[in-house]
Amino acid sequence: MREIDPDLSVVVPMYDEEEVLPIFFERMRPLLDGLGVSYEVLVVDDGSRDATASMLLAAAVDWPELRLVRLLRNSGHQAALSAGFRRARGNHLVTIDADLQDPPEVIAELLAAVRTSEVDVVYGVRSDRSSDSWGKRTTARMYYRLMCRLVGKDIPFDAGDFRLVSRRVVDAVNALPEDGRVFRLVIPWLGFPSTEVKYVRAERAAGTTKYNLSKMFRLAFDSVTAFSAAPLRLATWLGLLGGVLSALFVVGALVVKLAGNSVPGWTSTVLAVSVIGAIQLLCLGLLGEYVARLFQSSQKRPQFLVGYDSLEDQGHKALEE
Ligand code: UDP
Ligand code: MG
Repeated sequence: MREIDPDLSVVVPMYDEEEVLPIFFERMRPLLDGLGVSYEVLVVDDGSRDATASMLLAAAVDWPELRLVRLLRNSGHQAALSAGFRRARGNHLVTIDADLQDPPEVIAELLAAVRTSEVDVVYGVRSDRSSDSWGKRTTARMYYRLMCRLVGKDIPFDAGDFRLVSRRVVDAVNALPEDGRVFRLVIPWLGFPSTEVKYVRAERAAGTTKYNLSKMFRLAFDSVTAFSAAPLRLATWLGLLGGVLSALFVVGALVVKLAGNSVPGWTSTVLAVSVIGAIQLLCLGLLGEYVARLFQSSQKRPQFLVGYDSLEDQGHKALEE
């Protein structure tokens, strides 16, 4: 049964990581073998175009715990993680980057934390971002601030996608029907008991970043739109503002006309432009409100999740006796 149901699944999304792979195998295998738990390493090859796929296949020949899932095309880091969540079979699941920026040695600490404090989520939190550039640190800080407000929960600052979750969390995430999920937001949003383990994030062991600017924008847009319809509602507020401004304008234009010193045609032009503009923005805002409602119901997120239910638990006991 052990092979089907390991204690730990280590999910690793990989996109064009041929340079890092030899170091990855060399460091990961002895470490995981030495953890004293049964495990699987589930590598999700996110449509790599280099030698990643063939190197993985070759390595799997004499590493039975290595499982491979290959996506047909490059679908992005978060989509690759989704695939890993669906395929993983372990009782606990760790997600870790392929480039060894998250030191694999910390996996032992994550496991220890979940055992001692009986939580469902252990976030790996960077205690020091000095390995990142100034630009990356600043944008990251802005991102986490904004996300805390949108999600309405404490998003652990500087927690990336290096974390351990229990089977309960994996099942809850897989039950969310929405697309484009951003794990670092959805997991805190679910609200399972959690703790943190601090670690120092290393430099990329080899190769270059696979997160280009457009992928970072994608992540930022997905993050905002997954938790907030505020951008859609912007038109309503602009429309209201436009309405107030055009009312003031109309009064002003009439005063100028009555004083008799307006250019012929000016009053009617100003009136037409400002009133129509305000009406259009208001209508757009109204549409936005409906689209926002549709969008929220299409996400089909659960209204609540049950952590403990005394009725159910008594039921279990009654059955066992
Ligand atoms: N990755 C992926 N698909 C992508 C981009 C990245 O699976 O489209 C993987 C990548 O191979 C790595 C992880 O996501 O394991 C994080 O990417 P990277 O280290 O390049 O990002 P950075 O650390 O520079 O933010
Ligand atoms: Mg990296």
